[in-house]
Formats: sequence, C-alpha cells, structure tokens
Amino acid sequence: MSVIYDRVALIGLGLIASSMFWAMKRDGLAGEVTGYAPSAATRDTAREIGLCDRICDDILDAVEGADLVVLCVPVGVMGTVAEQIAPALKPGATVTDVGSVKRAVIESVGPHLPEGVHFVPGHPLAGTEHSGPRSGFAELFENRWHLLVPVENSDAGAVARLRALWEAMGANVDEMEADHHDLVLAVTSHAPHLIAYTMVGVADDLRRVTDSEVIKYSAAGFRDFTRIAASDPTMWRDVFLSNREATLEILGRFTEELFVLQRAIREGDGEHLHDYFTRTRAIRRSIIEAGQDTDAPDFGRGGGKKA
Ligand code: NAP
Repeated sequence: MSVIYDRVALIGLGLIASSMFWAMKRDGLAGEVTGYAPSAATRDTAREIGLCDRICDDILDAVEGADLVVLCVPVGVMGTVAEQIAPALKPGATVTDVGSVKRAVIESVGPHLPEGVHFVPGHPLAGTEHSGPRSGFAELFENRWHLLVPVENSDAGAVARLRALWEAMGANVDEMEADHHDLVLAVTSHAPHLIAYTMVGVADDLRRVTDSEVIKYSAAGFRDFTRIAASDPTMWRDVFLSNREATLEILGRFTEELFVLQRAIREGDGEHLHDYFTRTRAIRRSIIEAGQDTDAPDFGRGGGKKA
C-alpha cells in the first residue's frame, strides 16, 4: 500500500498508539512516525523495541511538521495535551484522537486548536485489557469498527484521508454524531465494564470468606469478567467521569432490569427467565453473524492473540 501521510505524530505510546504504529509500518502507510510519552521509562521502552521511527523527549518536537497528529492519551488529559501541542501544529495538519468518549474530547480539545488545523475525532472499537508500549500489535484493528465523529465544519478532504488510513489498517469505518456515539458506547462498552468491575469486586470480597475458591474454581463467566476488569484503571476512571450522563442512564435501566429478574427468581417465574434468556441469546448470535466476535468464550477481545 502507499503512503497516506508523510509525517504522523503519536502522542501517548500505549496499546492503541503502538498498534497503530505496527499497522502503519507493516503496510507502509506513513513516511515517518514520531512518538512522545511523558515518562522516560515509556520512551526508553519504545526506543528499545523500535516503536516509532523517532521518539522525542519534547512533545513539541514530536508534533512539529506532522501532517497527522493522533492523541492516544487518556480522555481526561486530551485537553491539556491539545493546549500543549497547539503552538507546534502545522497549518493544514489533521488532529485526531482515539478516545473512548467523544463529546468531552470535542469540548476539551477543540478550543485549543488553531485556525487552519483540521480536527477529526475518532474512536477505534478495538482493544484488549493490556496497556503500555509493549501491548500493541498490528492486527488489533482488523475487521473492527473505527468511528469517525467529525465536528461542525470538519474538512471533507481531511475526513476522507483519515478514513483511508483506518481502512488501510484493517478497520471498517463509520461516521457518527458525538452524543449518539457516547450513548451507544455506554450500552456496548462502558456499562458492561462497570458491571464487570462490580462482579469481580463482589467476588474479591467473597474470597475473603471462602479463601481462594473463587480463584481456584473460577468458571468461564467469571473469568471473562476478570479479563475486562483488568483494564487500565486510569483509562476507565476517565471514561466514566467524562461519559457520566449516558453511563448513568444505562446503569439506571440495568438496575431496573436486574430487579425484575431478581423478582422472577424469588417468585420462581421460570417462564420469565427462559423468555428473557432466549431473547439475549439471539443477540449473541447476531453479533457472531456480524463478524464482531467468535464463539470463543473470551468476549472476543483477542485474549489468545496477545498475552
Ligand atoms: P495506555 O496503553 O494506558 O497508554 C496511554 C498513554 O498515554 C501512555 O503512553 C501514557 O504515557 C500517555 N499519557 C498519559 N498522560 C499523558 C499526558 N498528559 N501527555 C502525554 N501522554 C500521556 O492507553 P490506551 O489503551 O492506548 O488508550 C489510549 C486512548 O485510547 C484512551 O483515550 C482510551 O480511552 C482509548 N481507547 C482505548 C482502548 C483500549 O481497549 N485500551 C480502546 C479504544 C480506545 P506514559 O506511559 O508515559 O505514562
């Protein structure tokens, strides 16, 4: 494949940035990729494993001359990072991000970007519970959705070029409005993560009662929860704090449903439980048919692909 951007800057060098680098390198999609992370330890690791063509100790050096700048940092610091890089942004450059929440990122990043710089927010619906510069792999985005969330007046050419990059990295690209994105993701990702965190927390409390039996006899359902609940604490703290309303709305509905199921169990209403589980089973089948998961009991998060 041919070069889509001559110069790409990756700000933040964790799972998503490192996966983007390996995918771009594999297919020759970028002329030169620079990278920056605030901790010297992360920059040293990146240099050691050949992550990025050039690792910069100064964030402005990484951004200078870049045609595409990708903010791969936790949602809560996107605005601060945008403010830091603004003076070095090249006129005509595109700034995008990979944050899991979109409205909060648009509001915190947008005001810092100078006139003449194109802002095209985005979110890859791909990830694992691993984080850091060693966790990335080129196949992460393959056959996964990447949602572009153009802002008002987003330049059509800039959107099309960014779409071409994500498609070349293997993703299926769709465009979505920011608030709609945040609600959909609250249902499909954010609330499920909170439920997993809760379930693992409950089991941890119980472990103190039953010794190590929860770990020893951990069944598939609980193991899947523990995989999700091992996700990066900073990232997920920021997701909940910045997608507060949509997450609370979905959790409210979840709690109501839980009470209904709880009552059905108490009253021995097997018909209700059976009907409910039949409906949910059909959803699982349609996700597999849509190619968004396999039958493997790991929530399709590629746990077997990369340790
Ligand atoms: P990660 O592996 O935890 O890496 C985060 C990176 O951000 C680290 O390199 C960290 O640098 C850097 N960073 C933190 N604060 C910074 C700051 N103030 N300035 C510059 N860099 C900073 O994270 P990730 O999983 O790649 O997630 C990155 C973004 O992608 C998040 O917004 C997340 O919501 C989104 N996302 C994640 C997933 C997923 O499953 N993980 C999926 C889709 C989208 P140090 O190493 O020096 O601390």
